[in-house]
Amino acid sequence: MLKRMTDKLGSHFHVHSKEQFSTSPIQSPISTIPSGASSASSLLPQYDHRGSISTDRTSLSASDWSKRGDSLDYIEEEQTASRPRKQHKGTYRLDDFIIQRTLGTGSFGRVHLARSKHNLRFYAIKVLKKEKVVRLKQVEHTNNEQYILADISHPFIVNLWGAFQDSTNLYMVMDFVPGGELFMLLRRSNRFPEPVAKFYAAEVALALNHLHSLNIIYRDLKPENILLNSDGHIKIADFGFAKACSSVTWTLCGTPDYLAPEIISQQRYNKSVDWYALGVLMYEMLTGLPPYHQAQGNPAILYDKITAGPAHIRWPSLMNNDEEFPSLAKDIIVKLMECDPSRRYGNLQHGAGDVFAHAWFREVDWYKLCSREVVAPFLPKICGDGDASAFEAYEEDVEATASYGVPANDLYGRMFPDFEYTYDS
Ligand code: AMP
Repeated sequence: MLKRMTDKLGSHFHVHSKEQFSTSPIQSPISTIPSGASSASSLLPQYDHRGSISTDRTSLSASDWSKRGDSLDYIEEEQTASRPRKQHKGTYRLDDFIIQRTLGTGSFGRVHLARSKHNLRFYAIKVLKKEKVVRLKQVEHTNNEQYILADISHPFIVNLWGAFQDSTNLYMVMDFVPGGELFMLLRRSNRFPEPVAKFYAAEVALALNHLHSLNIIYRDLKPENILLNSDGHIKIADFGFAKACSSVTWTLCGTPDYLAPEIISQQRYNKSVDWYALGVLMYEMLTGLPPYHQAQGNPAILYDKITAGPAHIRWPSLMNNDEEFPSLAKDIIVKLMECDPSRRYGNLQHGAGDVFAHAWFREVDWYKLCSREVVAPFLPKICGDGDASAFEAYEEDVEATASYGVPANDLYGRMFPDFEYTYDS
C-alpha cells in the first residue's frame, strides 16, 4: 500500500522538496533570540519551500464510508453549489487595484501585493487560473478555501475581504500580512529557542482550536503557511485544503513531512491530523528540520518513518553545551505525533484542553495571548505600508499577469459560484 501511495505522490515530492545544502552559517535576524541559538544547527541542511500535494481522492460523509472502495481514485464531488451563499465583506473587481509584485507562489496559484485605488491600502490578492484549478482537480478545494475563509474571523487567521472572477482567473482579496513567512524566519535563524517556538506553537494551537470548534480541518500546517503580522503575531494563510468536516474524511492532501500516518495509510481521518501537524511544527521550530527529514528526499523512506511512529524520532541536543532536548517539549511532541488518533493529544476526551493544559505550555496565559496582549518575540522590520521586503523575490509571470481582466472564452466560471463576476463586460 505504501508503495502505491509513494508512486502516486512521488512526482510531487521530488518537484517540491528541493534540497539545498549549505555549510555556511546563516545569521539570525532575530534580535531577541540569543546568539547561541543558531550555533548547534548552523550546519543543518537548508531547504526550499515545500509544496503541498493533493490527489483527486476526495471525501465522503461518515455514512458514505461503508460504500468506499480501497482505490485512491475514488471521486465523490461535494455539492458546492447547494451550499448557502456566503456574503462577502465587500464587492471588488480587478480595476479597483494596482497589481504589484508577487509575494508568493503556492502549488496552484500566485499571490500578489496589490494597492487599492480607492483607499490606497495594500492587500494580498491570490490569483488562480481556472483552467489549472480544473485540470489539477482542485475545484472543490478552491471553493472550500473561499467559502471557509469568508466565514472566519480570528486574530491569528488571515482575513478575506472578497472573491471575484473574470473569464480566466479567480481572485481572492485578503489583508496583506507584511512580516513574511515563519518559514523564512526559521530558515534564517536555523532554529528557535524554546520560548520562541512555544509562542508560535501556542498561537497556532489557538487558531486550530477555533477552526475545529467550527468543524473545519485545516490540513496544511507548516511554517510556509504561517505569516507574521507587523506586530509579530501570526496569521495562518492558505486555506486551499481546509474543509468543513464534522466527522471523518480521507482526501489525500497536505505536505509530505507533515502528513499524519492515517493519511498516508489511506484511512479515514478527522481533525486530529492538525494536532499531529502541530507536533511536527514544534519539532521543526526547535531543531530546524522536520522530525523525519532525510536528505535524499525519498518519499518511501519518509512515509515508512511516519508510519513507524515517534518512537523512532531522534532528539538532538539543542545547544552548544549538549543540553538534552527539553523533556516537556519532547513529551508534548510525542503526544501530538501519536500514531493512533484515538490516543492522540487534541483528540482525547478534553480535546484541545489537553494541549493547552500540557506542562510545556505552563507559562502561557491563553487569554492574554488570544487578545494579543503578549508581546511577540520578533518584530518584523517594516518600512511603511506596502513594504514587502520580508518576502522572497519571485520571477514575475508576465504572460499570466497579462491575462488578468482580459475578456476570453470562459469555460469554467460556473464551477466557482461564490466568486462573483464583477468586471465590466
Ligand atoms: P498560498 O498559495 O495561499 O499558499 O500563498 C503562497 C504564498 O503567498 C504564501 O506562502 C505567502 O508567502 C504569500 N501570501 C499568501 N497570503 C498572503 C497574505 N495575505 N499576505 C502576504 N503574503 C501572503
